[in-house]
Amino acid sequence: MKYETVIGIEVHVELNTKTKMFCRCSADYFGKEPNTHTCPVCLGLPGSLPIINEEAIKKCIQIGLALGCTISSKSLFERKNYFYPDLPKGYQISQYRWPLCIKGELKLDSGKVIRVNRAHQEEDTAKLTHQGGESLIDFNRSSVPLVEVVTEPDFSSSEEVREYAQKLQQIFRYLGVSNADMERGDMRLEANVSVRPEGQTELPPYRVELKNINSFRFMVAAIEYEVKRQIEAHEKGEKLSQETRGWNEDKKETYLQRSKEEAHDYRYFPEPDLPELKNMDQIKVDLPELPSKKTERFVSDYELNKQQVGILVESIEMADYFEKVVEAGKQNNVTPVQIANYIVNKKVDLSVDPKQIINDIQDKTSNLISDDAEFEKLAKQAIEENQKSADDFRAGKENAIQALIGGVMRLSKGKADAAQTVKILRKLLE
Ligand code: ADP
Ligand code: MG
Ligand code: ZN
Repeated sequence: MKYETVIGIEVHVELNTKTKMFCRCSADYFGKEPNTHTCPVCLGLPGSLPIINEEAIKKCIQIGLALGCTISSKSLFERKNYFYPDLPKGYQISQYRWPLCIKGELKLDSGKVIRVNRAHQEEDTAKLTHQGGESLIDFNRSSVPLVEVVTEPDFSSSEEVREYAQKLQQIFRYLGVSNADMERGDMRLEANVSVRPEGQTELPPYRVELKNINSFRFMVAAIEYEVKRQIEAHEKGEKLSQETRGWNEDKKETYLQRSKEEAHDYRYFPEPDLPELKNMDQIKVDLPELPSKKTERFVSDYELNKQQVGILVESIEMADYFEKVVEAGKQNNVTPVQIANYIVNKKVDLSVDPKQIINDIQDKTSNLISDDAEFEKLAKQAIEENQKSADDFRAGKENAIQALIGGVMRLSKGKADAAQTVKILRKLLE
């Protein structure tokens, strides 16, 4: 029997607000001395009262809008009750039945649409460190604003998950709402994985949640391992059940962390100390041009290929820089294509003056051999000096052309245009 994979993704992202979600402590805690960013509210002391951070709510709305979500006109915070040392109140303030943003989507390059179920606002927990038989708690992270983005179970491979996670990270960075760094834990990924017989439309009656995996690469490895493990279990007739698993990078396998019997019953109920969020859909926030739009525009306006554009729009800074250089090139008739080639190939540092880039491109072009006859002479000479590579190429070894290109470059002292060289060599070797 053939199987297909079903995956749903939960992403947590820490917002880079000035203060924490429900108090005025600084949220910029990374690398700071433990337990210096605390107050009665984020320590969960009895009698302290939370207040809502407006900046966080706006950032959550930005994320929602960037994902095409509807912003709920009415939204509520609820208490998610469980006991753990990193959660001093005994509950996390989160959203459950009335999330701020609902029903959005993110499109993959293949055109496949991943449905986003919700993007809601919550708070982070404190950080536990285990060392020498002791457990230490740092409350600096307690109550830092966190947004959770949950998809429908629409993924069917680890590669789709990787692309989604990278696109989401890029969106967070474009919006400027988070560093979204996986290693630092600004962005955390959980994958819910199950497999079903190919063609079956119902969801499998279980899902395995892969947690606490702090890199894209490990997540992909964990999903692939898990899919194999689950298919093998199905084939042996074993019944798979709901559980949480982690990733052991040394053994390259997933391991059981918590089974269904140990699952929490969170007893959600509305947070009585916070007001309902009203008219959230009326809040005005600015959105930058997002990566998908920018990509389309760069491809059509500048006639660049998608792969190049992918590199140019990787960060908003890079994209802005490219457009500055394009602007600077206008008076000198340096084309966007030339500029894109230059920036992508040379991995230009963004602090270089755009005019400098234009000068460089012009120098290079004016130095290049423009006389076709001279070019052909050099190419013929390179072939004569390296008959073996020429024969190999004629015999079908595509790669053999590299040595000949190298030859032309050497003979021309670097003044041959690479694309032109390939063209002439191919013509001569036909
Ligand atoms: P919880 O907080 O209990 O993890 P959520 O609703 O926040 O619940 O997230 C559940 C995630 O699991 C969603 O991403 C959903 O798409 C996914 N999911 C649900 N059923 C399956 C399934 N059978 N296989 C894979 N993923 C699933
Ligand atoms: Mg979950
Ligand atoms: Zn505080």
